[in-house]
Amino acid sequence: MGPTMPKNKPPHKQYPRHSDALAEHRGWLARAEKVALLPFNQGGSTHPTVKVGAVLVDKDGHEIAAAANRFAHGLDRRRPERYKNGSKSLWVNCAEQMAVARAARLGVPLNEARLYVTLEPCAVCAGLLAELHIKQVFVPVGAMRRYAKLKSKWKQSIEVGLIKLAEAGITLTSIDTNTVPSGRRTKR
Ligand SMILES: [Zn+2]
Repeated sequence: MGPTMPKNKPPHKQYPRHSDALAEHRGWLARAEKVALLPFNQGGSTHPTVKVGAVLVDKDGHEIAAAANRFAHGLDRRRPERYKNGSKSLWVNCAEQMAVARAARLGVPLNEARLYVTLEPCAVCAGLLAELHIKQVFVPVGAMRRYAKLKSKWKQSIEVGLIKLAEAGITLTSIDTNTVPSGRRTKR
């Protein structure tokens, strides 16, 4: 049996159907999804089946950094053994980590930043977000269900991640992305 779910369920904030805030959140989630699906040589995911995108946005609503889950800079993504089951997670960094690394390279502070990500943060990323004092994370409604190829070990990791977010006082908001005009419902 995996870890228990947090006592305080992450808040599911309801926005008025046509509010500007909802439109903005949907727009950033569409951007995160777009980054995930870019060709690898344009920054897209190098993961064959679980393509995740993350965008960090500053308090004024400007993009700080966007990234997909992929091999880190300088690593050889062409070795087939690195894609075998059990190996991929050792070689591919999470999208959140890549976005945070990019922000660090740019020298942009992340206090008051919010994170948009196409899949709930794993246990490692949730700890990283807590340590960075990031307070707001936005995901699509039912994000995990949209990743049909997600391994059970990742689901367990996300369960722990949700506990970490709740304990650290990080708000996880699920956004109904159904009617994003520029986005698309993905089947993975
Ligand atoms: Zn992660």
